[in-house]
Amino acid sequence: MFIKKLEFIFASVILLAMSVLGLNYYKSYAFKNNDLPESYKKHIEMKEKEVLSNMQKHYGFTLDIPLIVTDKFQGRLYGLTSYKNGQIKIYLNKKVMKESMEYILGTVIAHEYAHAMMFQQGYMHTKDDGHSSLWQKTCVKLGGEDCQQYVDQQEIIMSKMPF
Ligand SMILES: [Zn+2]
Repeated sequence: MFIKKLEFIFASVILLAMSVLGLNYYKSYAFKNNDLPESYKKHIEMKEKEVLSNMQKHYGFTLDIPLIVTDKFQGRLYGLTSYKNGQIKIYLNKKVMKESMEYILGTVIAHEYAHAMMFQQGYMHTKDDGHSSLWQKTCVKLGGEDCQQYVDQQEIIMSKMPF
């Protein structure tokens, strides 16, 4: 009787463990293969609005440019800003979003919008102009928490995106 009970408990624990595993697998599968979770979208949209309203407040205009979440990045880049034929686009890396969402919201969105403004205002001539002191001031005014170049990351693209 006791053995049977133990067996039952054991089987239940295994079943529970398997369902937790299954659920985790499903969640990460869904994250990889489907659209971005609603909560992420909401947070990103809210932050974007905040950055744009800071822009309006400090500079008297806003930018209407696409903010694209993509999983096509190579490597662990957080985000990047591209400029081609007068078109500015901001990309955020979906692959690092789960573990870096706070950083993306607190820092990356303002960081990339500051690059976008530099392009739009004509201050960008070479990639080396990217993290100038003017860029840094702009990033701070847009509400960035940590306005420095990402360590070891080159994230200004002045050509066609590779995807
Ligand atoms: Zn940058």
